[in-house]
Amino acid sequence: MTLTGKKGLVLGVANKRSLAWAIAKRASEAGADLALTFQGERLEENVRDLAGTLERESLILPCDVAADDQIDALFAKIGETMGRLDFVVHGAAFASKEALSAPFSQTSREAFRMALDISAYSLVALARGAQPLMTGGGSLLTLTYLGAERVLPNYNVMGVAKAALEANVRYLAADVGQKNVRVNAVSAGPIKTLAAAGISGFSTILNIYKERAPLRRNVETAEVAEAAAFLLSDAGKGVTGEVLLGDAGFHVTGM
Ligand code: NAD
Repeated sequence: MTLTGKKGLVLGVANKRSLAWAIAKRASEAGADLALTFQGERLEENVRDLAGTLERESLILPCDVAADDQIDALFAKIGETMGRLDFVVHGAAFASKEALSAPFSQTSREAFRMALDISAYSLVALARGAQPLMTGGGSLLTLTYLGAERVLPNYNVMGVAKAALEANVRYLAADVGQKNVRVNAVSAGPIKTLAAAGISGFSTILNIYKERAPLRRNVETAEVAEAAAFLLSDAGKGVTGEVLLGDAGFHVTGM
């Protein structure tokens, strides 16, 4: 699997545990040149420090995916600097702490709007912005979770957002396929990251996966990155509209 000669954009790096960081690292090892974004000044230094450990220099840019002007500025800068894009990794998601702990029926209109906007709509906005730069075809990849299909404790509005995100994958794949742009998702098993820390009872979820998944363990971040790299690379060039479950097989279990 190689990404030599490919240019990619990765959104969603917060720290060294971020799934987006593992994917960025793997893509860089495989030969890709990268642009990385940070959400707000608070995370800029983290992203710059991490990017400094990559073999090749990366372009570091701000992007709050809830702001259209920032998305426009991002793609304008990438166009100027990198000339084209071959892949985009969408690793951004957000739901308010209270929406991830209160009973689901208590979800406020604003909490629902924000979770769906940042975690699902943003993929549509990024696909639109990236298209003019994907002159040689391309691959868009997002990260989802089984909570899109099944009810998992406290996942709440994020499950609804992931269901919308997975539908986005299919509709976008059908829309941009004629331009040889593919759209896929990796549905990762639970991994302790900053975002995961917001979900009440996350440690219990990790233990249950370990007990019941066919592989009798949780997936590792590097394994998610490997599945992502496959979909980003030409090795996955016949695959689009797909949600690839990288969760040690947990999703096949009933009891
Ligand atoms: P993380 O906290 O490291 O990453 C989440 C990222 O989203 C952060 O970098 C944050 O800055 C970014 N973000 C939030 N709001 C944003 C906004 N308005 N604009 C731009 N960026 C914004 O956690 P993670 O677990 O690596 O999450 C990455 C993705 O993986 C998410 O979509 C998450 O739902 C998904 N996922 C995580 C797990 C898990 O168990 N950790 C499992 C399956 C899927």
